[in-house]
Amino acid sequence: MRTSAFHLVTRKETPQDAEIVSHQLMIRAGLIRKLGAGLYTWAPLGLRVLQKIENIIREEMNAAGALEMLMPAVQPKELWEETGRINDFGGQLLAIHDRAERDYFFGPTHEEVITDFVRNEINSYKQLPINFYQIQTKFRDEIRPRFGVMRSREFIMKDAYSFHMSQESLEQTYETMKQAYTNIISRIGLKFRCVLADSGAIGGSGSQEFHVIADSGEDAIMYSDSGEYAANLEKCEAVSLIETRAEPSAELTEVHTPGQKTIEDVVNFLGLEKTQTVKTLLVEGVEQAVALVVRGDHNLNEVKAVNLAAVASPLRMLNDDEIKAIAGCDAGSIGVKDLNCHIIIDRTVANMHDFVCGANKTDYHLTGVNWERDAQYHAVEDLRDAQVGDPSPDGVGTLQVARGIEVGHIFQLGNKYSKAMNAVVLNEQGKSQAMEMGCYGMGVTRMVAAAIEQNHDHKGIIWPSNIAPFTVAILPMNYQKSERVRLASDELYEALLAKGVEVILDDRKVRPGFMMSDFELIGIPHQVIIGDRALDANEVEYRNRTDMNSENINRDTILSFLLDQLSA
Ligand code: ATP
Ligand code: MG
Repeated sequence: MRTSAFHLVTRKETPQDAEIVSHQLMIRAGLIRKLGAGLYTWAPLGLRVLQKIENIIREEMNAAGALEMLMPAVQPKELWEETGRINDFGGQLLAIHDRAERDYFFGPTHEEVITDFVRNEINSYKQLPINFYQIQTKFRDEIRPRFGVMRSREFIMKDAYSFHMSQESLEQTYETMKQAYTNIISRIGLKFRCVLADSGAIGGSGSQEFHVIADSGEDAIMYSDSGEYAANLEKCEAVSLIETRAEPSAELTEVHTPGQKTIEDVVNFLGLEKTQTVKTLLVEGVEQAVALVVRGDHNLNEVKAVNLAAVASPLRMLNDDEIKAIAGCDAGSIGVKDLNCHIIIDRTVANMHDFVCGANKTDYHLTGVNWERDAQYHAVEDLRDAQVGDPSPDGVGTLQVARGIEVGHIFQLGNKYSKAMNAVVLNEQGKSQAMEMGCYGMGVTRMVAAAIEQNHDHKGIIWPSNIAPFTVAILPMNYQKSERVRLASDELYEALLAKGVEVILDDRKVRPGFMMSDFELIGIPHQVIIGDRALDANEVEYRNRTDMNSENINRDTILSFLLDQLSA
């Protein structure tokens, strides 16, 4: 490709709404352009990267035995009524209607559509297991679309759905998909981690996420420093930090704590440690209000909380009036003694003794509180965020944290959808049976942004070579005026094309410095600078975008040198 025949439009300025580096660089390099909130056009340069990622995904999915298909993006509302998922997805669903006032959603995911396809298409155990996939545009009306294509409203997902007669068969395909995902992200060239995950609105019995490791990642990944355990913070099991509960040794005492609202205030006022206190949070429950109790220095994990049967979804903290009605005090003085609601305490809290909590009386706290003797609870659960330094829940090592970008999520769904939608087949005994199901999503557009988050420097993008829009750039200094430079550039260009290399030759009439900074920004892995001075010595300059090292190479060997670099 010659730049004169291509569309290359870079920008110097960083766009104002671009908070993270991948978003900034994608706009500056001209990979994407914004159309509206969470809506982006992929320019030819960006599309080349996207299609490379798609091709790697397609090859690995095919190799893993999955069958490509394509479902409509627009889905009839009735299908969603069958599974009752309209509420779960809530505001993320983009509702549309046709001229006859029939209701549709623009698909945020395709469990309903594939299950409808399969219930009509498959009727015998002999046709199973089977795994279908598509690469397609989704729409989710995200509350806060941001970070460019990292969290957009319209985006491309690869989604696969497998169907089985048994849990064992599902587990087999799940493992195959896990391996396929590992192969895909490795081939793309990114550092990543597979972690235990919460199943969210998709549901099912178990799931894992694939995270590209990057400081800007929205998710916290907890992992053992010496073992295999790794989980999204949302899911990471938090063990009790106290082995057994000691006997009460202090007397229950009410203390006046005027104006001391937060845990910090109270511990400073009383001269205590946060670890001696508990926080009582009142949330909406399914039947009655629920008190969730964590140690003063711990964070409530909202995903764990909302997954509790007694807690209403979505999670809602009670307001001041509701708190007053239940606890009889302000939010800062809620405590566990004589609190009239369903009380669920964290594992660590269950082993505390002589602790401090609110007195359910504004501006008063209790010290020397002990379970059984002074206060009762209904259940012990894992309620808190795990934190760095905690013992790993599998007993091996200590937890550390890294930031991650979720690029893939695989689920064992079981028969949630097949039951709801009556997707049954005849088993070997001729009896009708609901199918077991798995689903496997991967963010194709998000992967491009994740690749940049992990691979860039202050000058621009550094593409891993398998997904670079071009692998070699020829940058002639003075292409328009120096015939010698032009001939040398054209010769190398033709030779690389003949070898099937994806090469771009910059034949624009621009200043050398401008040209070089453009290609540093765009991040082409291998760059050859051709100028009169080096040609005097029959040489050209080679630059590697990754380490920015440059060396002069003899013109007669530059082709074989480049081919060596590309196959390295
Ligand atoms: P997140 O937690 O980031 O919102 P999710 O759990 O809603 O993601 P899934 O339903 O598991 O996402 O979708 C599968 C994949 O689709 C995700 O792993 C992610 O890579 C991608 N994806 C989801 N939402 C978006 C979005 N708004 N923009 C770009 N990619 C997305
Ligand atoms: Mg997810």
